[in-house]
Amino acid sequence: MSVTTEAGTFESLNPATGAVVGTHPIHDEKTVFETVERAQAAARWWAGLGWKERKNRLLRFKGALARNLNRISQVIHEETGKPIGDAVFEAVGAINLLDWAAKNAQKTLGPRSVFPGALSINQKAILEYHPLGVVGVIGPWNYPIYTPMGSLAFSLAAGNAVVFKPSEHTPGVGVLLAELFAEVVPERPVFQVVTGFGATGGALTRAGVNKIAFTGSGPTAKKVMAACAETLTPIVAECGGKDAFIIAADADLEEAAKSALWGAMSNAGQTCVGVERIYVVESVYEEFLGKLSARAEQLKAGYETDGTSFGPITMPGQLDIIERHITDALAAGGRAVVGGAESVRRPFVDPVVLVDVPDTASAICEETFGPTVTVTKVKSLDEAVAKANATEYGLASTVFTSSSKTALDVARRLRSGMTSINAAIAFALIPALPFGGVGESGFGRIHGADGLREFARPKAITRQRFKSALDTTTFTRTQKEIDQIIKLMQFLHGRKK
Ligand code: NDP
Repeated sequence: MSVTTEAGTFESLNPATGAVVGTHPIHDEKTVFETVERAQAAARWWAGLGWKERKNRLLRFKGALARNLNRISQVIHEETGKPIGDAVFEAVGAINLLDWAAKNAQKTLGPRSVFPGALSINQKAILEYHPLGVVGVIGPWNYPIYTPMGSLAFSLAAGNAVVFKPSEHTPGVGVLLAELFAEVVPERPVFQVVTGFGATGGALTRAGVNKIAFTGSGPTAKKVMAACAETLTPIVAECGGKDAFIIAADADLEEAAKSALWGAMSNAGQTCVGVERIYVVESVYEEFLGKLSARAEQLKAGYETDGTSFGPITMPGQLDIIERHITDALAAGGRAVVGGAESVRRPFVDPVVLVDVPDTASAICEETFGPTVTVTKVKSLDEAVAKANATEYGLASTVFTSSSKTALDVARRLRSGMTSINAAIAFALIPALPFGGVGESGFGRIHGADGLREFARPKAITRQRFKSALDTTTFTRTQKEIDQIIKLMQFLHGRKK
């Protein structure tokens, strides 16, 4: 939560208590442009350090994050309202990402020889990945360290400088990250932060960065993309989802209920890869619903340090969306088996489990981003897959079944960037796996080797080792050489099987 204060600054507020967590500058266009200019010079220095020096510094940054885990978690806790344990868990995930990016950058992006092919056998072919320059990272508030770290760590490890614009609701986490980075890399401003509202993010898209890594809503992603189109600046867009959770008749229902509930309600449902729709095969529907509801009844939204399952809704405007999705679902013939419209007690929302919700209701079609979930009975796994895929989003999904073959088959048919089998959101803790979506969920990838390549450009280099026996690429080539090439091609590719 945030409010504008005296000219040029704004306050980030604790969404649970309203207490001021910090005061930050609203950086204007001029400041953002100057910041990016400084970053361009720093990027050249950082790129020139080479793989080993960058890795050492990034591992030192990781050490600083680990040593300051309590401090970081406290800021996250205060700015988002999430329980301190969740804040710690999130920061641990971010450290894990940084560690992987630092240790795998050279292996993934460093020079390697590739086979040049029969026609170019006289050439040595080298593939390597060069940094882009400066990456502008526009971050969200729901996981203010874990989510941007997927862009920050991978950009830095690939040899870029970064300018980070944290969400207006969680600027303090971003500022602290930059401070800790500057302690271990004091030489140049390789990691800078600009704070403010959407206009500050907008300025970053026009400031001459070499790529924008955006996380947030689809509509804002489109604005960012339009601004970047002016200068052909590429973007990677991590947007929202409407993730499905499918339960087969042979699933372990107890485990499925535990996992679905955590996927749907942890972080008060404010998770881009959170479970929003559950599809259960009819033979186990009632039993699963009973187990899920019993567990959901036990959860409690709040801000106390003990006994709170999840915190408040961080962004006040989201409360209206959550309330609308619940009331629309009920008006359209749905039923709340846990909670209901009364569960919205601002700024908190208690768990809501909705059933019999029509496919056209907003609770099924639009991202809710709250601790609500729909449970829908389906006749078969085929119907579950069809319903799961009947959305413009395509971020993540889960399937629960005791058959590995069925699980893989369903996973491959689900139109989403990530699918977990027998555990919700498991991919998010595996830094080697790419993270990203399709359709309205965005494009491009963070995390893993693909995430490193996202922030680098491939460079192809050839070195002629000896003169080719076939002189094909000069004007002195002869008909005889062309005839030899025809023969070679027919030998290599033209034989009938
Ligand atoms: P937004 O898409 O509005 O904002 C995301 C980031 O973009 C913030 O840092 C924001 O700054 C910045 N921004 C806003 N306008 C511009 C602009 N014109 N140019 C450049 N940057 C801009 O998301 P919200 O935080 O408002 O959340 C709205 C919805 O987005 C949620 O309901 C949820 O559905 C989805 N969301 C998805 C997330 C995910 O992880 N996929 C994360 C967060 C939200 P500022 O905050 O200062 O306005």
